[in-house]
Amino acid sequence: MSDLSGFRALVTGGASGIGRATADLLAARGADVAVLDLDPSTIDKPLRAYTADVSDDASVRSAVAAAATDLRGIDILVNNAGIGAVGTVEDNDDAQWHRVLDTNVLGMVRTTRAALPHLRASVHAAVVNTCSIAATAGLPQRALYSASKGAVLSLTLAMAADHVREGIRVNCVNPGTADTPWVGRLLDQAADPAAERAALNARQPMGRLVTADEIAAAIVYLASPAAASVTGTALAVDGGMQGLRLRPE
Ligand code: NAD
Repeated sequence: MSDLSGFRALVTGGASGIGRATADLLAARGADVAVLDLDPSTIDKPLRAYTADVSDDASVRSAVAAAATDLRGIDILVNNAGIGAVGTVEDNDDAQWHRVLDTNVLGMVRTTRAALPHLRASVHAAVVNTCSIAATAGLPQRALYSASKGAVLSLTLAMAADHVREGIRVNCVNPGTADTPWVGRLLDQAADPAAERAALNARQPMGRLVTADEIAAAIVYLASPAAASVTGTALAVDGGMQGLRLRPE
């Protein structure tokens, strides 16, 4: 893996789960890392913490500007902040659709827009978006969430095309079900969380969930000079969930 000394990175949703693992790994590789989150109170040195809500443009602008000043530029933007939604199209009302799309899709648009002038000034600029296998998998009970991640996939490809000649690479990772606080919160709603976790593990081709560290490793690879010729791709980190067609036992 590349040494990222001298790189300046901004990670949204970096206070928990996949974002936190990514911020920690970028820092371990030598990058100077800023975390932008609704609640960055758990962030400690060497990470830099900025409070912002990606669904609010003014808040994003001021946090990205402050981070860029402190970092003296931005080379790597990890658009990771996102929220979930459960249900069919009948279960989520317009307000819920607006809230999730505003965070998961427009959130990435806002941070990218604010970071682009800094990325243009970098000699190794990369954007990595956290998408999901939900973008293409046809998951039941995930209409709104899947639509939001489908938009993230399309946005990733369009951004990659728009900025390739500026030397800015844009890719996404598509995690499968990952063992993060988010999934822990969902499991805690079950009558028997331990049994629900065991059943969830059993549904995975590898018999276990993906870890946040494994997804972070893919994000850091795509952000690094090791991936200098990689743009406009979606890298699945899903334990084979999407690609494998396993016969029922
Ligand atoms: P998480 O809930 O553990 O962490 C999400 C972080 O984003 C939190 O720190 C939260 O405060 C922050 N955040 C949420 N809304 C925000 C906002 N409006 N502005 C700023 N920060 C905000 O979740 P996670 O599991 O680490 O998920 C991170 C990303 O990975 C999301 O985009 C999610 O869609 C994606 N993903 C997760 C899984 C999974 O199984 N966990 C699978 C596929 C994709």
